[in-house]
Amino acid sequence: MRALTWQKKGEVAIEEVADPVVEHPTDAVVRLTSTALCGSDLHLYTVLAPYLSKGDILGHEGLGVVESVGDAVSHVAPGDRVVIPFNISCGTCRMCRAGLQSQCETTQVTAEGKGAALFGYTRLYGAVPGCQAERVRVPHADYGLVKLADDAPDEHYLYLSDILPTAWQAVQYAGIEPGSTAAIIGLGPVGQLAAACAQHLGAGKVIGVDLVPERLARAAARGVHTIDVNQVKDVASAVHDLTDGRGADGVVDAVGMEAHGNPIAHAAISATSSMPAPLARAATERFGIDRLSALHTAIASTRRGGTVSISGVYGGMADPMPMMQMFDKQLTVRMGQANVRRWTDELHGLLANGADPFGVDDLRTHRLPLSEAPAAYEMFQKKQDGCIKVVFDPTS
Ligand code: NAD
Ligand code: ZN
Ligand code: ZN
Repeated sequence: MRALTWQKKGEVAIEEVADPVVEHPTDAVVRLTSTALCGSDLHLYTVLAPYLSKGDILGHEGLGVVESVGDAVSHVAPGDRVVIPFNISCGTCRMCRAGLQSQCETTQVTAEGKGAALFGYTRLYGAVPGCQAERVRVPHADYGLVKLADDAPDEHYLYLSDILPTAWQAVQYAGIEPGSTAAIIGLGPVGQLAAACAQHLGAGKVIGVDLVPERLARAAARGVHTIDVNQVKDVASAVHDLTDGRGADGVVDAVGMEAHGNPIAHAAISATSSMPAPLARAATERFGIDRLSALHTAIASTRRGGTVSISGVYGGMADPMPMMQMFDKQLTVRMGQANVRRWTDELHGLLANGADPFGVDDLRTHRLPLSEAPAAYEMFQKKQDGCIKVVFDPTS
């Protein structure tokens, strides 16, 4: 089959690889009909390069049709249309039962000291072949796969695999409730949906921050008060001005470690990702070279006693944090990979029968053949051509 594979820093390619097969009784093989590109893939493309090997199949957002199942899989059968959650979870361990599927104790990558295995996400997360391919083997398919209720277009349900539960968890963790003020830092696909989730939960005011005109415009058109980082010198003051001088009740960092705004960290990251892999891994883990500007904005924008909710991915170990400000403001910080299966039943229900409370139907700006994925990575990274969300057709 054809699959998108990582080649070297900043280079991916389409290659012929072996077809996946059922290896364990709890596996299924899914033939993908849509697979999306995520901000998390961009970290693999460059910053996390030291953790990848040539030939790794990327991608963790997929929807398709079950082709074959192992003997222990009973809730889905060949022919069923399903969404594939990006974290691989068993559904029965203590973590899964507590709604912490991204920490699943059955699939934890203990050798690397990490949580649940993830599709297409480096050896740190189990080196599981990803979804940007014609087919994918799904471990723990009996619990993981979400069977779809109706035949709405792929994009209506595709984001249940990652960005919709991620956005939903982000605003739940931010403590957003009716009347709250919410600020979303970063209006990529995750931030767009987080803003919509906050509105759905009844936030009195939703503020969105980014620097890309099309992303700001889409959010503004959906009723978000936008702040353009390129126009406003002090974003946190602007958030205070919009919240009676108080700061937002809950702030979501939907940017992560590749934030714009810290040239020194940018130079450090660039240097790291061209070092030999073992050296670069050590540097990434120990020296705290992440770009924290979005997180600092989030902290400064939160009201006293408020909550910072981090959905953007961070990778370093020893990041200098504004601890004085965090302590003085008595902040609550929540974070982590989305516990996808914790939220999919509820969200699936909210999307059934064509309902679209989150604007998923017009989030995708580009549907492209998988063969065009190498150029699409570059377009998404550079935010060219009005690109907000890319979905690939794995059959062409
Ligand atoms: P994206 O890269 O398209 O979105 C990031 C957005 O942040 C961009 O629009 C960018 O212009 C904006 N931005 C950059 N620097 C900024 C700054 N200083 N201030 C304000 N905005 C800034 O990617 P995405 O797909 O929306 O993902 C966003 C983040 O969420 C990534 O870090 C991704 O890895 C992470 N993510 C986490 C989970 C999870 O389970 N926690 C799941 C999916 C994605
Ligand atoms: Zn993703
Ligand atoms: Zn589990």
